[in-house]
Amino acid sequence: MKRITILGATGSVGTSTLDLVSRNPERFRVAALSASHNWQRLAELARAHRAELAVIADGRHYRPLQEALAGSGVEVAAGAGALVEAAVRPADLVVAAIVGAAGLPPTLAALQAGISVALANKEALVCAGELMTGAARRTGATLLPVDSEHNAIFQVLESADKARRVWLTASGGPFRCWSAAEMARATPEQAVRHPVWSMGAKISVDSATLMNKGLELIEAMHLFGLRPDQLGVLVHPQSLVHGLVEYVDGSLLAQLGPADMRVPIAHALAFPERIETPATRLDLATIGRLDFEEPDRGRFPALALAEAALVDGKCRPCVLNAANEEAVAAFLGGRIAFPAIADIVAETLMVRPASALASLDDVLEADRAARSCARQLAARIETGRFVASGISG
Ligand code: NAD
Ligand code: MG
Repeated sequence: MKRITILGATGSVGTSTLDLVSRNPERFRVAALSASHNWQRLAELARAHRAELAVIADGRHYRPLQEALAGSGVEVAAGAGALVEAAVRPADLVVAAIVGAAGLPPTLAALQAGISVALANKEALVCAGELMTGAARRTGATLLPVDSEHNAIFQVLESADKARRVWLTASGGPFRCWSAAEMARATPEQAVRHPVWSMGAKISVDSATLMNKGLELIEAMHLFGLRPDQLGVLVHPQSLVHGLVEYVDGSLLAQLGPADMRVPIAHALAFPERIETPATRLDLATIGRLDFEEPDRGRFPALALAEAALVDGKCRPCVLNAANEEAVAAFLGGRIAFPAIADIVAETLMVRPASALASLDDVLEADRAARSCARQLAARIETGRFVASGISG
């Protein structure tokens, strides 16, 4: 019996995880569940899965959550501190499925406590890769990749030194065939309508800008101890090949699977065993063909920005991520146009100094400063006072 804690239980990855947990009651039981603010959904899930603890990150919803769970036997807690406490509560696995750098403190705490983490929350690793992998090394906790590409690489990579190149595939997102002029008019509704995957709003926008693939390159570097020059991106619209490893001898090994997150999640949950999933099986004869192409960094500048941050290191990935989170929020809120997301990230990277990050406090400070800068840039765009590469007004 594995005790599982799910941080971000109400989200897309959290829901898929709980689906697998409920299909395997003899294997898994739920320790703690958390959510940001949707206390109604959290209460339903905590009751249905007989969680020991339910944590709502937004403290304003403590009372209603407590009332909703009265008499259920589920413990209730709220706030950022409670999220960290939930993460370090005894468990065999913490599924890190919070979106954004907000997931870093509890995810890092789990690793520091020696609890293995199934990682969906790529932003945490992008911001604090060395801290997280260092903590896992020290305590012996395992970091299991849930992100489909990284789960694929985890399955086919023997060791970093045998690989010439590790390829992450990208669907290309909803705007793969759109012109720059068309993308300039893209609405949030169009950006979140992903052609292949069904995901939360933030990662859907990241898939539309290709920032998601950029964040994933940084994620892969940390997870597998790869050099930037060992990493590559291939656009693969069918999203059936998730990752490939080109070995030094010329062999190319790939992992294929349906575009259903329950497959990589099941792999991480059951590791080193395997469990059944309800995902549709790939019928290659019917699928017939698999296409691959180079990403277009001209139309998708966010990918190039992330690739530069990957090479630059230090605080650059953290700044890139924080600026992107703020810019995506501004786009989803209808305050800025789609191409302004990359503009804001580029500008924030230019304005913020490149400092080293030695502690969680350093990371949180770099994150805070980059957000503040990106928010100001977004506000200037809204009021028409932003000129790329030179803030006016
Ligand atoms: P989502 O928006 O559907 O869910 C996010 C979850 O995090 C929710 O439970 C929400 O309550 C919680 N949350 C949000 N902000 C929070 C905060 N400030 N504090 C505490 N909790 C907070 O997101 P998702 O699509 O499930 O993605 C989750 C993570 O997994 C992201 O990092 C994403 O990049 C990654 N991921 C998702 C998919 C996918 O298919 N959805 C695939 C690969 C990787
Ligand atoms: Mg992915």
